[in-house]
Amino acid sequence: MKTLNDFNFENKKALIRVDFNVPLNDAFEVTDATRIEAAKPTIIKILEDGGSCILMSHLGRPKGVEDQFSLRHIVEKVTEVLGVRVTFVEDCVGDKVAEAVSNLKQGEILLLENLRFYGEEKSGDTAFAEQLSKWGDVYVNDAFGTAHRAHASTAVIAQFFENDKCFGSLLAQEIESIDKVLNNSEKPVTAILGGAKVSSKIGIVENIIEKVDHIIIGGGMTFTFVKALGGKIGNSLVEDDKLDLALEILEKAKQNNTQIHLPVDAVIADAFSNDANTQTVDTNEIPEGWMGLDVGPKTSEKFAEVLAASKTILWNGPLGVFEMDSFSKGTTELGNAIAESTKNGAFSLVGGGDSVAAVKQFGFADKVSYVSTGGGAMLESLEGKVLPGIDAILN
Ligand code: AMP
Repeated sequence: MKTLNDFNFENKKALIRVDFNVPLNDAFEVTDATRIEAAKPTIIKILEDGGSCILMSHLGRPKGVEDQFSLRHIVEKVTEVLGVRVTFVEDCVGDKVAEAVSNLKQGEILLLENLRFYGEEKSGDTAFAEQLSKWGDVYVNDAFGTAHRAHASTAVIAQFFENDKCFGSLLAQEIESIDKVLNNSEKPVTAILGGAKVSSKIGIVENIIEKVDHIIIGGGMTFTFVKALGGKIGNSLVEDDKLDLALEILEKAKQNNTQIHLPVDAVIADAFSNDANTQTVDTNEIPEGWMGLDVGPKTSEKFAEVLAASKTILWNGPLGVFEMDSFSKGTTELGNAIAESTKNGAFSLVGGGDSVAAVKQFGFADKVSYVSTGGGAMLESLEGKVLPGIDAILN
């Protein structure tokens, strides 16, 4: 795997695909600069080597040129985060860019306009990728968030660099973290799968079931398993067309000596509301008119025991409706157990959508080993898919 450390960027122009798809408010101010901060180590390493950086990214989903999606809105923020003045060019291909690139000196940074102002970016157009490729001596991909897309700037472009291409430090870290969990893991390995539905997690289950020792199930998908096993789930979320699948998963786990841990108790509510009446009952004894919206205390204790004995932990998906205070306890207790196990030497990776939001919301981000920056890209990696953006650098 080629990384930044395989190159000396002195007097080199690095063309870096970053993921600066950051949220903006109505005044076009950046409200969360996490993605810019995540790209900083790569950019700084190149500047410190004596190189210069040409940054390219997408922002939002523009249909052609739309000013609200212009990357000029984020120039100040990027400058502030990097601590180096960033020059903006109002295009990503063409004469203006050619001039700015030829004037770029050691230690300087250029930010190109939104790649998605051109439909060719998303369609993975080869000629467009070739035009972009002219801007750098070395291509660096540091955009994990788009690594699962075969777009011009994320994958197609790599063919124009032969050997002068590598992963940025963020993307390298993402790849190493996934590898540490799925392929080079210290045992016992525990995967926690929460969230709403079995159907959206089945790809992950199939890929990991032979690789991990324990699978902890939580969230809405619990009830498809409980119903399949003959339990009473009241009005809880269920996928009736996935009952057989749930039984197949349990059987396959048995064959692979993988232990599946289902919640034993649930916090149930008489409405999908933070102010609903609640009680705690066994997961398979939920009365009609009530729905399970969080795991109960016995479950939290049981899960914490499994996690305390784990050396590698993967967490994807909340254990309950964590957005509502009344049903967030199971998810925070789980976060505490993971934090504790991490403190005692386990490697913990949190990845994919809502678990990342939960980790940030409850302050666990610096108490776990790694929090992934890519939702869809992380899910596809956990499903065992080869991501085009990664493949293009490797081959
Ligand atoms: P996912 O995107 O599949 O990881 O699902 C995350 C969503 O699942 C969050 O918005 C949670 O509120 C929701 N969720 C978790 N537990 C439950 C539950 N018991 N019933 C309904 N929704 C749930």
